[in-house]
Amino acid sequence: MLIADHETTSDKSPVLSAADRSISIFGSTGSIGTSTLDLIERARSGNGRDHDVYPIEVLTAQSRVKELVEQARKYRPSVAVIADESLYAELKDGLAGTDVEAACGRQALKEAACRPSQWTMAGIVGAAGLEPTLNAVRRGGVVGLANKECLVCAGDLFMAAVEAHDATLLPVDSEHNAIYQVFDQVNPKSVESLILTASGGPFRTWSTDEMQPVTPEQAVAHPNWSMGAKISVDSATMMNKGLELIEAAHLFPVSEDQIEIIVHPQSVVHSMVRYRDGSVLAQMGTPDMRIPIAYALAWPDRIETPADRLDFENLDQLTFETPDTIRFPALRLARECLQAGGGAATVMNAANEVAVGHFLNKNIGFLDIVRIVERTVEVMQTEWEETPLSEIENIIDLDLKARGEANGISSQFKQK
Ligand code: NAD
Ligand code: MG
Repeated sequence: MLIADHETTSDKSPVLSAADRSISIFGSTGSIGTSTLDLIERARSGNGRDHDVYPIEVLTAQSRVKELVEQARKYRPSVAVIADESLYAELKDGLAGTDVEAACGRQALKEAACRPSQWTMAGIVGAAGLEPTLNAVRRGGVVGLANKECLVCAGDLFMAAVEAHDATLLPVDSEHNAIYQVFDQVNPKSVESLILTASGGPFRTWSTDEMQPVTPEQAVAHPNWSMGAKISVDSATMMNKGLELIEAAHLFPVSEDQIEIIVHPQSVVHSMVRYRDGSVLAQMGTPDMRIPIAYALAWPDRIETPADRLDFENLDQLTFETPDTIRFPALRLARECLQAGGGAATVMNAANEVAVGHFLNKNIGFLDIVRIVERTVEVMQTEWEETPLSEIENIIDLDLKARGEANGISSQFKQK
């Protein structure tokens, strides 16, 4: 269930106070994961209580084993999972003498999502988060969704699972969280359109020629938000807004042509909903992910966050611009993939992950990222049109094939 229905929730089970819910954090060492833990730590110290406030069931990481050990020793989850199996011994040694179970590998990650926690943060980056998040959804709990790639890769199947298992899906991505907060869930037909805001990233005013030589260091330096490397590069190419367009189309009951994108460099208005009577409702705040994370963590209540407050008297101008799809072709490509339907977005997402990885490793240039993604989507058209997407295995298979294809195409772009 995406649309909040407090009564149904209370019919189903006694409503727990948010702080009593047990918590699983997938991707706990990342930007979203550490911000989630920061809020939990503050709630604990504010409460004068320790591990019984937001008790933690699962923490997971890909390869930052030292950070995971540190987190697990501090927050005492039932299990800590390191996805990279070669780091298992280090995790196990690090947890010696504690009652925290150590586990490793993809299967352990999927199984950890089946553990009985009441609230899950989907904070893994990329399609790697799809299966664990789906397992959490299938338990019918509350899922805070940061991992937008889940929806881009497998949106129809994912949302069908949310519905079938009566899960509560709370968008954490700041734009979608903003829309969720101002969307008339009782009367969705009163909505005319969604307006997704985009900062425009670090190269908003740069010409294509100026963007040609940019380095990973320049691309990850986002002007407003502090985030993981992959989403920072996505923001610089504006693929992030393309992914978010597709995410919004799955999350909210609107069609593709009812989703507008507007560049708003100050990142104060996080997104808006336009109503049939001409009203526009916006959610605003300083650019701090702890605000949307706190919304999801405490839902349906609200909790304190240390985020800076908006200071209207000293606020700079709020400006809005039409996005430039010539300089930022990812926006056009993502909309075309959404319109095409089928597995086009699955292929686009996988190819983007591969190309961003090559860019971060300095194998390809910045502008090559979207060229590689577009070429992959083109050459795999028959496959993405014909692959049935009702089974997760088919989607994972299509994602893997797209990664292989994108790797092959990337080698033609390799920098000398
Ligand atoms: P990050 O790179 O900082 O952290 C990613 C986390 O996922 C880490 O804990 C890492 O260990 C884990 N991980 C990475 N690859 C994995 C794999 N293959 N298998 C298992 N675990 C893996 O990323 P982030 O910025 O925290 O972003 C996480 C997700 O949230 C992304 O989907 C991103 O688009 C979304 N998001 C992030 C922000 C933000 O401000 N950081 C805002 C909106 C949405
Ligand atoms: Mg966002």
